[in-house]
Amino acid sequence: MLNSSTPKFSLNLTRRVFLLFAFSMIALGSAQEKSHVSELVNLADLSAEFEYDIRYATEHNFIGQVLYDCAQCLLRPEVAEALGKANDYFRQKGYRIKIYDCYRPLDVQKKMWSLVPRASYVGNPYGNGSIHNRGAAVDMTLETLEGCYVEMGTDFDHFGRAAHIDNYNLSEEILANRKLLFEGMQKFGFSPIRTEWWHFSYKRNFDYPVLNTPLPCP
Ligand SMILES: [Zn+2]
Repeated sequence: MLNSSTPKFSLNLTRRVFLLFAFSMIALGSAQEKSHVSELVNLADLSAEFEYDIRYATEHNFIGQVLYDCAQCLLRPEVAEALGKANDYFRQKGYRIKIYDCYRPLDVQKKMWSLVPRASYVGNPYGNGSIHNRGAAVDMTLETLEGCYVEMGTDFDHFGRAAHIDNYNLSEEILANRKLLFEGMQKFGFSPIRTEWWHFSYKRNFDYPVLNTPLPCP
């Protein structure tokens, strides 16, 4: 009896240990997922001084479809804090930041890539992804404190030479507006990319993990 019951006990014990291990791994996985989501903050909770035009929450974007359930700007806390400082800087000069896009879930990146598979315009979701997927990039422009449009040469998500930051074949007014934008953002740790005047990545951005949590709705 002893001999026959011992292996059974061992088997049960092994199974229990395995189940405990499996549940621990699931719990650990979901805890890590939560901790990544909680690493993002809503810019509106930090400051009420930003304007918003979250294009991917509307059909007014290069895909022509609503890609976000809610119009939210989520960012890494240090990125949001730096953006707040940049906005204070612009406000002292009579302008404020208008936000087009912040954190972008990886699934949305995949949808964009399926329609525009050009790495110079859309980060490859099967490669390094976009800094937007890491909550460390912002697409934005400036407007005056009175809400007047500031001309930057093209609309947001214009894919062409006119949007390139090394295109100087523009009016003096546009070049001055872009200079104000780039110099202000660089002071607070943001770098532009060559093909999109509206895009700014925060420093050390590839250290952050890619996220795929949908934008939370209030
Ligand atoms: Zn961007």
